[in-house]
Amino acid sequence: WEEQFLPIPLRIDDKIRAQKIEARLSKLVLCGATLRQVTDVFESEIEAGLRQKPSSLQMENTYVPELTDGTEEGSFLALDLGGTKFRVLLLELKAGKVMRDMVKLYEISEKLRLGPGEELFDFLAECVQDFVCSEGIENGKFSLGFTFSFPMRQHSISSGELITWTKSFNCSGMEGVDVAALLQRFLTARGLDITVRVLLNDTTGTLIAGAYLDRSVGIGVILGTGSNGCYMERACRVLHWERSHELVEDVCIDIEWGAFGDNGCLDFLRTEFDDEVDSKSLLVNSFTFEKYIGGKYLGDLVSSALGVLARDGLFPAEPAFGYLQTAHVSMFEKENCSSEVSGTLQALRDATGGCSALSNQDALVAQHVAHLISNRAAQLVSVCVATLVRRMGRARVAVAVDGSVFKHHPRIAPLMDKYVALLAPGRPFTVLGAEDGSGKGSALAAAVAARLAAS
Ligand code: BGC
Ligand code: MG
Repeated sequence: WEEQFLPIPLRIDDKIRAQKIEARLSKLVLCGATLRQVTDVFESEIEAGLRQKPSSLQMENTYVPELTDGTEEGSFLALDLGGTKFRVLLLELKAGKVMRDMVKLYEISEKLRLGPGEELFDFLAECVQDFVCSEGIENGKFSLGFTFSFPMRQHSISSGELITWTKSFNCSGMEGVDVAALLQRFLTARGLDITVRVLLNDTTGTLIAGAYLDRSVGIGVILGTGSNGCYMERACRVLHWERSHELVEDVCIDIEWGAFGDNGCLDFLRTEFDDEVDSKSLLVNSFTFEKYIGGKYLGDLVSSALGVLARDGLFPAEPAFGYLQTAHVSMFEKENCSSEVSGTLQALRDATGGCSALSNQDALVAQHVAHLISNRAAQLVSVCVATLVRRMGRARVAVAVDGSVFKHHPRIAPLMDKYVALLAPGRPFTVLGAEDGSGKGSALAAAVAARLAAS
């Protein structure tokens, strides 16, 4: 059992150098026993969070009780905000089936991501206006689902306040502000007849979009710039409710596992590389777990580890911090799978300002570092998924996953299959890619909310 968690060993000609490198990076290798320990901590943080006791897991009630029932009809808008690209979607539903979907992407500048929140929200409304105009439907009346991929305190399915920004956003004046109400204000100010019906996290959107494809979906996961998960929990176990819910059996809980460990409960995992990545991040001392697995940080982790090796004389040069991105990590891993080095070598040259000492052997070292960091990320996210699969105890549960790391990294998805199976033995599960789930799910949720509002 233990052996199955081991990463692929480093294979370079100089065996002594390989040994030294492996020793220097050994804290990145998590054994099965350590992963069991993470599982135990995750379980107890889940319980504490649900009971509203101190926990690094927020376990937020999303108030999403129902998934699509196949009767939804009409055209619905959705917004998806979380990364540097903002998406506006239009979904046409007939008898619960998606007949047509239109998507438009808008770039969010750094100035807007770090400036006053009201300017950002005015821009969002401007994009919606641009979208409906380009579709020629600016005079229509629409329900809208807003996917807002940040931690919120929700009061209902259509309202919630931002708790803290994460990833690459840090707008001022937004904490504690109801983001659905603010969006509504700017849409109305532009004369648009659009009602913000649901406010969702991207994991919830992914779960809803996944359930639309496969009814056994009970868990939604994002493995992208950031990372998080949600799952269907028994309503009787959830204390945070702001209206009566006698008729509800299950409700979707947004775990916010990016913040897992912010109270120190995961300090036993932390390496010097994690310290460096955290200290150079936009929001220092927060989102501990996300910084182990989110795409925003994987490239930085590789740079940090290569920097340490360089300072120890085990690697020819230090890559400029911030140069290597997750796309590079995926490429290193891809080349590693097919015994190639050319792309890796070129990226390392670019990252080190053209260091001429870099050789094919060094490219193998960098690929190995990328592999260790990817393997750890896959293991940690698998701990969370396996814990939920076990907790839900269903005959079979499907996990809907969306996000750039899941989509583009060649090893993460197969590693997740392997590790979840090892960590949740005897519990059948399937991992299902839900492409663009976060936005689509939001439009589907708006459709459900519109159906409920009309009935
Ligand atoms: C946010 C979550 C979100 C995740 C994935 C995290 O930084 O806190 O709400 O689900 O990123 O986008
Ligand atoms: Mg997203």
